[in-house]
Amino acid sequence: MKVVRTDYRTLVRFDADVQIPHAEMIVAQGVFETILERYERDLEVLSLTTGDDAAAAIEAAYKSLCQESREKGLPHPLGALSEDPKIRQKQIRRRKVCLNYLLTDLESENNAPLDALSARQLLVDAEYPGGDQHILGGVEEVVLPLVASPHLLEQVATNRAVREVKYSGNVDKGVKVVVEHLDGGGGGGGGGAKTSEMVCDALVLTVPIPLLQSKTSKTEQGEIVFSPPLPSWKRNAIEAKGFGNYNKIALKWKREDIFWPVEAQIMSINFSLASEREGGWRHASGLENMKGDMSEEDSNLDCLMLPRRNLWIFNHMPVEDEPMLVVMISATLADEMRDSSTVSLVNRVMAAIRVPFPKAPKPEGSWDLNEWSQGGWSFHKKGSTDQHVRDLISPISSVGKSKHPFDACRLLFAGEATSEVRPGYMDGAIETGEREAVRLIQALEAHTPKSRL
Ligand SMILES: Cc1cc2nc3c(=O)[nH]c(=O)nc-3n(C[C@H](O)[C@H](O)[C@H](O)COP(=O)(O)OP(=O)(O)OC[C@H]3O[C@@H](n4cnc5c(N)ncnc54)[C@H](O)[C@@H]3O)c2cc1C
Repeated sequence: MKVVRTDYRTLVRFDADVQIPHAEMIVAQGVFETILERYERDLEVLSLTTGDDAAAAIEAAYKSLCQESREKGLPHPLGALSEDPKIRQKQIRRRKVCLNYLLTDLESENNAPLDALSARQLLVDAEYPGGDQHILGGVEEVVLPLVASPHLLEQVATNRAVREVKYSGNVDKGVKVVVEHLDGGGGGGGGGAKTSEMVCDALVLTVPIPLLQSKTSKTEQGEIVFSPPLPSWKRNAIEAKGFGNYNKIALKWKREDIFWPVEAQIMSINFSLASEREGGWRHASGLENMKGDMSEEDSNLDCLMLPRRNLWIFNHMPVEDEPMLVVMISATLADEMRDSSTVSLVNRVMAAIRVPFPKAPKPEGSWDLNEWSQGGWSFHKKGSTDQHVRDLISPISSVGKSKHPFDACRLLFAGEATSEVRPGYMDGAIETGEREAVRLIQALEAHTPKSRL
């Protein structure tokens, strides 16, 4: 597998049309990391005062950091402010820009606005040991080598949508799965959807979490009926997960039309209070309207706790020599664009890109949304607990006793949302598939006489 490691030193950041200097970001990043460390250290105390609210807990951690500096007679964590009012004004603006940028990044990374996040979500920060890597040739390059033999691959049935799972009744008959044949095959009868029934000893479900959630808030599509209904502890755990919307648009240009810095692997454009008028991003930054000055006397972060929007842009020039930008739209912006048609999505993104790059010409292509994932990836919703996490992972046992090796784990759950360490990532998803495979193997081994192993 060929990969290109992401070089974050090439990252170019914009606050609307203003490029943020790298050196300033490094200082702000250092402070922000200290805030998050403090947050992690004092989470229990902070949560007592702030409740399960990520934004409030960050602010509390920032305040305690400022207070500690004051008590020790040290300068403000972000450095001392100048006495000269003009310079001071500039410094304050930069502080806001940088910290606002980092908060936006946090929302983008977690794929949800801060006010939707549980305080515990910010503790999910395990990094992939190899750093971020761009896989040349696509995700198949990761997944296919995991398949032990080509024979197994032949058994994978595609174009089958699981519609119903019957996991009790006569336990000896295992789990029955009703699948709809999306390509029109199968039995089913009548003029409606073609369905068939599969019987298996145990079922590992890896569908994205919205497909398992109650269908009141999102779309009715893709509902899976469980018979009997899933127990309440499992349903509660499923509902405790959020699932941020995430759109990815690949925009391609002719080589001669390249308008962006080709060496930057990633570009990021933030709009702190950007409001759109007449289809454009007129009110670019809005930081001036935010209260407070982040000085020695002011340790409030409320000036930054406002709606934010971000575009995270991957430049394919340095990695694949393609004049293509892949634009990631997350959190608040993704929700706002949920119902947009592809054309209006591309128009909005292009209007945003034209704030720092006014001469950007029209692109050539775009991507669309996907019915079978209904979003990007999951996060811990406000109010979620350790127990919810354990319950989401726990298998469901058979009803009744049959002495079958899989009695204790008839219905198993995998997929990124069930990962304890790396939810939201591909490697996290793979690890959960392996975890459930091990569970089944162990159940079999526990039932098999030693001589037969
Ligand atoms: C735009 C975007 C960018 C991302 N970028 C990154 C990244 O850079 N790095 C990273 O590590 N992760 C990234 N992710 C997240 C990553 O893709 C997911 O965490 C990962 O794919 C989750 O794997 P999974 O097996 O849990 O679910 P999925 O990959 O979503 O697989 C679930 C499968 O279930 C199928 N399915 C759904 N309903 C049914 C049904 N009823 N019957 C049968 N099949 C069904 C779906 O078709 C799908 O194939 C990104 C996600 C998005 C949307």
